[in-house]
Amino acid sequence: MENTDVLIVGSGCSGLYCAMHLHKQLPKDKKILIITKSQVENSDSFLAQGGMCMLKSEADYESYFEDTMRAGHYENDKESVEIMIRSSQEVVQDLLGCGVDFQREEDGSLAFTREGAHSQKRILFHEDVTGKEITSKLLAQVRQLSNVTIVENTTMLDIISEKNICCGAVVQKADGTLEKIYADTTVLATGGIGGLYKHSTNFRHLTGDALAVALRHKVELENIDYIQIHPTTLYADEKRSFLISESVRGEGAKIYDKNMNRFVDELLPRDMLTEAILKQMEKDGTDFVWEDLRTIPEDELKSHFPNIVEHCREMGYDVTKECIPVVPAQHYFMGGVKVNHNSKTSMEKLYAVGETACNGVHGKNRLASNSLLESLVFAKRAAKDIAALSESSAEDMGAMTGNEQACRAVMEAVNLQDYKDAKALEQSYQEQVKAEIEKVKKRREIG
Ligand SMILES: Cc1cc2nc3c(=O)[nH]c(=O)nc-3n(C[C@H](O)[C@H](O)[C@H](O)COP(=O)(O)OP(=O)(O)OC[C@H]3O[C@@H](n4cnc5c(N)ncnc54)[C@H](O)[C@@H]3O)c2cc1C
Repeated sequence: MENTDVLIVGSGCSGLYCAMHLHKQLPKDKKILIITKSQVENSDSFLAQGGMCMLKSEADYESYFEDTMRAGHYENDKESVEIMIRSSQEVVQDLLGCGVDFQREEDGSLAFTREGAHSQKRILFHEDVTGKEITSKLLAQVRQLSNVTIVENTTMLDIISEKNICCGAVVQKADGTLEKIYADTTVLATGGIGGLYKHSTNFRHLTGDALAVALRHKVELENIDYIQIHPTTLYADEKRSFLISESVRGEGAKIYDKNMNRFVDELLPRDMLTEAILKQMEKDGTDFVWEDLRTIPEDELKSHFPNIVEHCREMGYDVTKECIPVVPAQHYFMGGVKVNHNSKTSMEKLYAVGETACNGVHGKNRLASNSLLESLVFAKRAAKDIAALSESSAEDMGAMTGNEQACRAVMEAVNLQDYKDAKALEQSYQEQVKAEIEKVKKRREIG
């Protein structure tokens, strides 16, 4: 059995940023282990295109707050929204310190762009690969930390708990062998659920494993039927739907029906735009609508969105000369493992951060470019809370030893043979999560 002080499941921006701050907050002899189901670059954090929001100035506070709430249908947790917005400048300073290269104005100040449902330009970006820029810089930082280890191609199959305390996890390693990991604290940072859907912008291996494990151990979930469909992904025969970022609409791209007529305000919140597009497709009897990027000056299109221009070219479309077919696809998960404002779940010693967690910040529908920010803000808060708890329990060694002994006994008793058919287990997890989402959806419909 392997031992660690903190086990982080997932190496996207939330897992990495949590590790970075745990390193800062915990004594340097504490071990932090990050496991990840695939290779470390294979996280949705690397795919984020449009950017990351920041509170530009106090003058924008009310409007940023209102845009977030309006997009979330006012179902957002107001305190979470306030924490996210108020912490944004500190997070950006951290990222700049890691060498993240956000676009600058000619005078050297940070440049901002706009996306759907934002009343102001307040989104930081790096071309159309902001997520890759942020996450690769975080990864480079974390790789230098002596007490953090990253292990790739290692899948969490289960957590082990005793009397509502998380004791660690059962994992399957790259060579197929099974292992128990004893961890004083476990952080779930397993991302979204796109792998459960036929059409999604997410990596296929993101299948909501943390939700399945939470269901199994009666850890509370929240709003798991709140699933965001992105209105505009390229209509093409691809394994993962390619996102046509909202910022192209923020910069002036237009949407047309089959007769090349505009039928909708392109800057509506995502759910409303998705609904309008699906309605129009049904009316027109088509599988897609058209998006026109030619409305954006060519030099801006090529400098701000090189990745989109190139991907469309590879798929046979020259966006400087012609419209592209787009269709809505699953994109983001607003619900998740229920957490408090410090990212703690309903189970002791178990935290959840990033897309896997639900602190209510997005309400019913996420405002564009709030996700990277939310992931980072609340991952840092988790790290602080874990460190504070670790400090206070170090002063209370008696109680700690009691819990630790109970946990170790439970871990010893776990029979790894129960996990030997990992494929079947993962399949059944996916079915369980899908069924639970449907159940919650129905319950909400009935009221
Ligand atoms: C195409 C696209 C564009 C986007 N654009 C933007 C944008 O412009 N702005 C914005 O704010 N947000 C954007 N988002 C959303 C944002 O990227 C994600 O919400 C955010 O990056 C999630 O980070 P995360 O750390 O929670 O999860 P991820 O980055 O998805 O990482 C999840 C990690 O968990 C691991 N994992 C999963 N299950 C297991 C398991 N059982 N065992 C071990 N490891 C496991 C995965 O391998 C991965 O390392 C976009 C998303 C997509 C897909």
